[in-house]
Amino acid sequence: MSDPTFVRGGSFLVRQSTPDEIFTPEDFSQEQRMYAKTARDFVDNEVLPLSDEIESKQPGVTERLMQKAGELGLLMADVPEEYGGLGLDKASSAIIAENMPGQGSFSVTFGAHTGIGTLPLVYYGTELTKQRFLPGLADGTAIGCYCLTEPTAGSDAMGIRSKATLSEDGTHYILNGSKMWITNAGFAKTFIVFAKVDGQQFTCFVLDRDTPGLIVGPEEHKLGIVGSSTASVTLEDVKVPADQVLGEVGKGHKIAFNILNIGRFKLGAGTVGACKQTFEHALTYALERKQFGKHLTEFGAIREKLAEMVARTYAAEAAVYRTVGMIDQLLASTGDLHGEAALQAIEEYSVECAVVKILGSETLDYVVDETVQVYGGYGYSAEYPAERAYRDSRINRIFEGTNEINRLLAPGMLLRKAMKGELPLFQAAKALQEELMGIPSFDMEGDLGLLAAEQKIVQNLKKMCLFVAGVAAQKHGAALGEQQPLLMRLADLILAAYTAESVVLRALKDAAKRGEDSAIVPIAAARLECERAMSNAEGFAREALANLEQGDTLTTLLAALRRLGRRTPADAITLRETIADRMVEMERWVV
Ligand SMILES: Cc1cc2nc3c(=O)[nH]c(=O)nc-3n(C[C@H](O)[C@H](O)[C@H](O)COP(=O)(O)OP(=O)(O)OC[C@H]3O[C@@H](n4cnc5c(N)ncnc54)[C@H](O)[C@@H]3O)c2cc1C
Repeated sequence: MSDPTFVRGGSFLVRQSTPDEIFTPEDFSQEQRMYAKTARDFVDNEVLPLSDEIESKQPGVTERLMQKAGELGLLMADVPEEYGGLGLDKASSAIIAENMPGQGSFSVTFGAHTGIGTLPLVYYGTELTKQRFLPGLADGTAIGCYCLTEPTAGSDAMGIRSKATLSEDGTHYILNGSKMWITNAGFAKTFIVFAKVDGQQFTCFVLDRDTPGLIVGPEEHKLGIVGSSTASVTLEDVKVPADQVLGEVGKGHKIAFNILNIGRFKLGAGTVGACKQTFEHALTYALERKQFGKHLTEFGAIREKLAEMVARTYAAEAAVYRTVGMIDQLLASTGDLHGEAALQAIEEYSVECAVVKILGSETLDYVVDETVQVYGGYGYSAEYPAERAYRDSRINRIFEGTNEINRLLAPGMLLRKAMKGELPLFQAAKALQEELMGIPSFDMEGDLGLLAAEQKIVQNLKKMCLFVAGVAAQKHGAALGEQQPLLMRLADLILAAYTAESVVLRALKDAAKRGEDSAIVPIAAARLECERAMSNAEGFAREALANLEQGDTLTTLLAALRRLGRRTPADAITLRETIADRMVEMERWVV
C-alpha cells in the first residue's frame, strides 16, 4: 500500500482508534447529502407509487424505473467517468445504496445491478468490454446480472460445474452449465457468468442476453422481495468471444471474492437505510394507534422497542460508514479508484466488510420483527407495510455470502493476517494473558471524560476477543479453522467489539462537534449498545471457554473473564426512555 500510515484492516482489535479518525454520517459533504436526497426522492416519488405493480411483476415497470434511476445518475456512482459514470468515492456509493430501500424488491434489483452486475466490468473489464458494456449499465438502458450460484454450488462457489471450452481456432469459448437464483435474470441484458475452462480454471465472462444458447428459466416463487426477478439460467453451447473474458483465465475467484467485499459494505448501508424507514413506519403507527384510550407511544413496552430499534440502527450505521471511510481513505492514497490497487485497498478491510454485512442484515431482521409487533395484528396483514418489510428483510442473511460464511471469514481472515505478520494479534494475546494473570488493572490512561465507562467496555471487549482467541489457538493450533462453533463465538466477539467501538467513537465525535446536550440520542445509543455488547460478549466468551477447558484451568479463565466484564451496568431502561422521548417528540428518525 502506498500510504504507510493507513489504518490496517482488522487492527481495531489491537489499537485504540480516536473519534477524529473515523468517518461518520455527520461528516457527509453537501454533495453526498444531495445524492442521498436524490435517491430518497426518487424512491418516494417514482418507486413507491408503483409498488403494487412491482410486486406483481408487471412487465416493463421495473425496467422503466431503472432507466429513470439511470437518468438521475443513481446507477453510475461506481462507474468511471470515461465510461459514462460518475466515478464517485465509496462513501457516496454507499449513501446512494442507503437511500434506495423503501421498496425491497426494487432495492434488490438496484443493488444487484449496481453491485455484482456492474462492478466486475469496472474492475476487471478490458478497454473493449468496458466501452461496450459499461455505458448501458451506467444509464440503466442495460440491466446487469451475475451468474455464479448453481444448483449444487452455493456457498461452495468454487465447486461450480459450468464448463467453458476454447474453440479450436481460439476465437471463442463454448459455455455449458446451469445457474440458479440469478437476480435480475428476467430482464437483464448483460450477464456476468462464471464457468471453469476445461472444467478446471475458474473464469469470469461477460455476455449479452441475446447470445444463442443462453436460456432464462421461469421466475422463482419467493418468501420476500417477490417483485424482484430471480430465475435460473441455462447455458447450452453458448459461444462467447475470447475477448469477453473478465480478468484472467483461471483467476475468476479473485473477481467473485473481491466484488463480494464491496457488495457487503453496500448491503450494510442498504440495510441501515431499510432499518430507518421501517422504524419510521413503526413510529408513525405507534403515534396514531390508540388502545385503552392511549397512543401506543405512551406505553413503556412499545417505547422501549422503538428506542432499541434506534440504538441498534445508529450503531450499525456507525460501523458501516467507519468501514467505508477507511476504504475511501486508502483508495485516495493509492490514487487508483478502479484498478488492482483499488481492489487491494478494499480487500484490506474484508474483515470489516464481513462484519457490517452480518450486522446490517441482523439489525434489519430485528427491526422488522419488532415493527410487526408494534403493529400487532395489522403487522400480520399484507395491507400494511410491516408484513412486506418482514418478508423482504430475510434474504439479506443469505446472499452476499450467508452470515455463517461471513462469520467464518471474519476470524479466519484475522488469523491469516496475524500469521502473515500483518497484525500483531498473537503478541497482543500473549501480553494480555500475562496481564490477566498478574495484578488486575484495566484502567485506561488519563481522564476519559464523556463515555468513559463505555470506552473502557470497548477496551475490555477487544481484550475478551483476544483472550478467547488466544486460548482457542493454544488449544487447537492450526485445527482451529475446523472448530466452527468456536469460530462463530469469536466472530460474535469481533462484531461486538467493532460495533461498540464504532458507536462510541461516532457519539464522541458528534458530541464534540455539537455539544453533549445536543447529542443526547447518540450518547444514549452508545451507552445502550456497549451494555448490550458486553452482556452478549460475556455469554459468547463463557460458552467458548467452557468448551475449551475444564476444572481448575476453566475456573482461572472464567475469573479472568469476569474481570474483563466487570462494570456497573448502565441503566438501560432509562436510556431507552431518553431515546424514545426524542423520537416521539420529533415524530421521525432523528439523532
Ligand atoms: C433471492 C436470491 C437471490 C440471489 N441472487 C443471486 C445472484 O444474483 N447471483 C448468484 O450467483 N447467486 C444468487 N443467489 C444465491 C445465493 O448467493 C446463495 O443462495 C447463497 O450463497 C447460499 O448458497 P445456497 O443457497 O446454495 O446454500 P448452501 O451453500 O447450501 O448453504 C446452506 C446452509 O449451510 C450453511 N453452510 C454452507 N457451507 C457452510 C460451511 N462451509 N460452513 C458452515 N455452514 C455452511 C449456509 O450458511 C446455509 O445456512 C441468490 C439467492 C437468493 C435466495
